[in-house]
Amino acid sequence: MEHTILFFIFGLLIGSFLNVVICRMAEGETLMGRSVCRSCRKQIAWYDNIPVFSYLVLGGRCRQCEERISWQYPTVELLTGILYGLVGMFFFSPTPFGILEALWLLVLVSLFISIAFYDLRNMEIPVTLLFLGIAVALIYLSATFFLFERAWPFWTTALGTGLMGAAIVGGFFFLLVFLSHEKWMGWGDVWLGVLAGLAVGWQLAFFLLTLSFALGAAVGIGLLALRKKSMQAQLPFAPFLVSGTLVTLFLERTASWLTRFFLW
Ligand SMILES: [Zn+2]
Repeated sequence: MEHTILFFIFGLLIGSFLNVVICRMAEGETLMGRSVCRSCRKQIAWYDNIPVFSYLVLGGRCRQCEERISWQYPTVELLTGILYGLVGMFFFSPTPFGILEALWLLVLVSLFISIAFYDLRNMEIPVTLLFLGIAVALIYLSATFFLFERAWPFWTTALGTGLMGAAIVGGFFFLLVFLSHEKWMGWGDVWLGVLAGLAVGWQLAFFLLTLSFALGAAVGIGLLALRKKSMQAQLPFAPFLVSGTLVTLFLERTASWLTRFFLW
């Protein structure tokens, strides 16, 4: 339990950093320098920059200019905290494999959150982050293979199943892009599909795709019903693919944990 709380707190801090990445990347700013208010550009004091807590204390407004602070800030912080906590709870163990897997998932969660929120803000997937994610995934899967799974038949290793997953999920989005001439999906979705496939493996590829499209359809129909979007409006797909992948990754461990919890 202790390391779940530590992972959660660490996640809140990383979430705060991810907000900076999401905002500054869109405006081509560097990651250096102190945080300023997006509205009045005044520097934010450290005590007004504490994840989630400061947002609540300030009532969601800047101390200087009283302009509303975007809901994105506390959401990203809390979400990163919760997902980091789940990694600590379900995946981390003080063994070489447990540490390596937890590290990989923390990087993946961070990149996924940045990509999804960037897409929500800008209707565009940051390709730099995608390629970074794919590179890290290949390094992690290769390391796992050479350290722990070298004696296994290749197509049963994490590397083998990941590569097949990438071909299925990435290939599916490639077909959609190719057939629709980029009307239904974009190239960003293809690379995000490759990353998602590497992460879950071929066994869960169809589950992941079904879940992501179901989530997209549910939210799309909801927005139509609430008249927030018209039939022609485009929905960014990355948030659904990211949510679908994270649920797929965490579902198995959460379910087995819940089963054990309730059976006891
Ligand atoms: Zn301000």
